[in-house]
Amino acid sequence: MPLVILQPSGNKGAREHYRDTIQTPVSLVDYASSLGSQKSTLDALFPTGTAPMWGVTPGGRNPQLWGRCSAGDLVLFAANKRIFGSGTVRTTFHNEPLARILWGEDAEGRTWEYMYALDDIRPLDVSYEEFNRWVGYNERAVIQDFRVLSQEKSDLVFAALDVDVEIYGTPVSPGDFRAAATRIPDELDRERTTQQRTESRYIRNHLFPSPTATCDLCGEVFPCAFLVGAHIKKRAACSHAEKIDIPNVVMAACVFGCDALFEKGYVTVADNWSIRVSGSTGSAALDKRLAQLAGRSFPHRDALRLPYFLWHRNNTFRG
Ligand SMILES: [Zn+2]
Repeated sequence: MPLVILQPSGNKGAREHYRDTIQTPVSLVDYASSLGSQKSTLDALFPTGTAPMWGVTPGGRNPQLWGRCSAGDLVLFAANKRIFGSGTVRTTFHNEPLARILWGEDAEGRTWEYMYALDDIRPLDVSYEEFNRWVGYNERAVIQDFRVLSQEKSDLVFAALDVDVEIYGTPVSPGDFRAAATRIPDELDRERTTQQRTESRYIRNHLFPSPTATCDLCGEVFPCAFLVGAHIKKRAACSHAEKIDIPNVVMAACVFGCDALFEKGYVTVADNWSIRVSGSTGSAALDKRLAQLAGRSFPHRDALRLPYFLWHRNNTFRG
């Protein structure tokens, strides 16, 4: 599980570092010779060729704390008694020569060589008092040193920020993705996709014999490239007999909203074939779109479809 890293950056030097290597991400090409073999890792994580970077000096417990940091951790930058920004660690690396080039050295001749590269930099505005309440610190506590919170305290921060920890979960690098994709047995994969292709071609042939067709929900005519064969009863919930009942279990839905609205349960069809929509969604734009669909009549009225719509109303429709 990801941890929270506190990164005070209020003094003059740190403010400059923030401007120079966070707000202005570091070019990986420009520093290729200092990065050496670390460049390929960073290249894979930062396809744009630039990476925001930060580092801590070898002073005190820093190296030990830095050793606990890993990809997915949330960094909180603090200055002037406020947490003003956050970012997500993508990788940590030790590189003293690069740190010297980027930031020079402090009064003791040390440099910020225990480095990390991060992304998803976003502004934040949280007072120390508020932060201290979240994690149960004394309300006057001040963020003075680089710190890595315990898992328990980190979780309190994630909860307070209402962060879906999944977002900050260990990111999947292109390398990891390729490795995972390679592990899926080829034959299974090929067999499944062939079947999927056969089924979807069959559905498309059935629903879209002409170059254009009508969306069953909004009633507009579109080129078939913008229509999908949508399962009224979720395909995964269908028995084999239902899966092959293509004339009744699928309908034509446009990609300009109808397919998604039906799949996410904002729209359904009643027993009298009239289109029902869910109550106020909190989004004016979505409500407007739903109002356009409400009360329309579903065109293909074969009673064999009704059990599928009943399933949709009971299992998907939000009401
Ligand atoms: Zn439509």
